[in-house]
Amino acid sequence: MKRKPKLGQNFLVDDHAKHAIVDALGDLSQRTVIEIGPGRGAITGILSPRCKRLLALELDRDLAPALAQRFTEQSQVEVIEADVLEVDFATLVPPGETADVIGNLPYYITSDILLKLFSAGSAGLLSRAVVMMQREVADRVAASPGVRDYGLLSATAQMNARVENLFTLPPAAFSPPPEVFSTVLRLTFAPRFAELKVDPVGFDRFLKQSFAQKRKTLENNLRAAGYAQPDISGGWPGDISRQARAESLELEAMARLYRAIARK
Ligand code: SAM
Repeated sequence: MKRKPKLGQNFLVDDHAKHAIVDALGDLSQRTVIEIGPGRGAITGILSPRCKRLLALELDRDLAPALAQRFTEQSQVEVIEADVLEVDFATLVPPGETADVIGNLPYYITSDILLKLFSAGSAGLLSRAVVMMQREVADRVAASPGVRDYGLLSATAQMNARVENLFTLPPAAFSPPPEVFSTVLRLTFAPRFAELKVDPVGFDRFLKQSFAQKRKTLENNLRAAGYAQPDISGGWPGDISRQARAESLELEAMARLYRAIARK
């Protein structure tokens, strides 16, 4: 079957890695699992006998029916030909339950998929995800404040999930080999909005404004976003430097600043 590079088709061929990815979700015997981009079934084949229900979302209109054919005997597997970004996860997860997600992601839409997972996690639809992505993106997702890779993606991810960096694979683990290394992350969805006493919509907007321009201080980014000087000067907490950049602050400090200066 003809490979479609535009769909990010680098198929996993390292057997040890295939098992390690599935193992990272633990006991799945009572779980519904959503696989993103099953492709030729490298992960699907190991996963399917282990979980209660497997919903595999594949966009490629040639690969999806071939995969469905392969799993006709396994009634717990459903291959859905669809764009993961268009699917409403609420329709996949049984009422009152949560699902887990697994996937060697199509790298060209990694950020969009992650944002979708965070919003489904916040909605109480997902418990955990084990996802592979380009190493540089994974490093940004998992970075701590103050290190070079920390930015909006890190802050957003860590407001929504506990992030664990599991392992990294070389290009040779795939066919054809991509030009980049790949890293597997485990995300345990645990939104922090209530704990940090911020509203999700307002705080997400605040984070985007705070990280808008890396070379600017946080205060200058907020001024550029339209925050009024009296609100900034009147509310700015004494223990946060007025020269600080958003990249240097822990989420607790960002939340305190937001609560102090955001207009109600
Ligand atoms: N899971 C397989 C493996 O590990 O060998 C394939 C992984 S490959 C990196 C990414 C897969 O995602 C491809 O099968 C590709 O066709 C599929 N894909 C690309 N864009 C997609 C989308 N928007 N929605 C669902 N699947 C997509």
